[in-house]
Amino acid sequence: MAPRKIAAGNWKMNGDLAALAQLDALAGAVDGRCQVVICPPALLIHPMSSKSVPGIEVGGQDCHAKASGANTGDLAAAQLRDAGATHVILGHSERRADHGETDADVSAKAVAAHQAGLVTIICVGETEGQRDGGDTLQVISQQLAGSVPDCATAENTVIAYEPVWAIGTGRTPTDDQIAEVHARIRADLSKRFADGADMALLYGGSVKAANAAQIFAIADVNGALVGGASLKAEDFAPIIAALAAA
Ligand code: PEP
Repeated sequence: MAPRKIAAGNWKMNGDLAALAQLDALAGAVDGRCQVVICPPALLIHPMSSKSVPGIEVGGQDCHAKASGANTGDLAAAQLRDAGATHVILGHSERRADHGETDADVSAKAVAAHQAGLVTIICVGETEGQRDGGDTLQVISQQLAGSVPDCATAENTVIAYEPVWAIGTGRTPTDDQIAEVHARIRADLSKRFADGADMALLYGGSVKAANAAQIFAIADVNGALVGGASLKAEDFAPIIAALAAA
């Protein structure tokens, strides 16, 4: 099995009920040649999944590692599933930075998500300082080893390489830099997991219509995790089209 192609949108803390109209506008761009997942704020998961737009799946942006309990403000993986989510983003650099999430936290959340039947989109990525210091590959390998649990398979896990300095900045790594990191991720996964060669690897960080086709032509890039450009159908549709054609 070859890795599947996935265009995933991360709406972060943007959007409201009116924004669900974007899905109607996006529907025409979805033709089954690649998987499309949108991860809206948690309150929008159920209304978004209830729209049942063919070809568009819905995901969360985080979940708790426990199944239930006294965890005010948190959401369990099974609750995301119950609301209609099929995927969940875990270990996004904004959660690692803003909420102090460690690799061990991310791994525990991933175990809970898999138990609930969710596909995890596990994020890794270096800061600008780590890249400038020549530590990128070591950082990525360390994050992968610590954040991806042993129960990961090509079916239940997707890895997103998101350089922290490229998120929301309009800056992207060179093709060679993306290729180098994706090759490392593929090698690490293939060494550790029997089906590591089949896990989908996404690039994320300032992907837009203008650079999508070039990024999707890079070896071992099986799709994208898209922030800002996933909010509007007119911006996300050409990215989906570029992936479908890749
Ligand atoms: C993200 O936050 O996952 C992301 C990739 O954001 P952007 O596309 O806006 O850089």
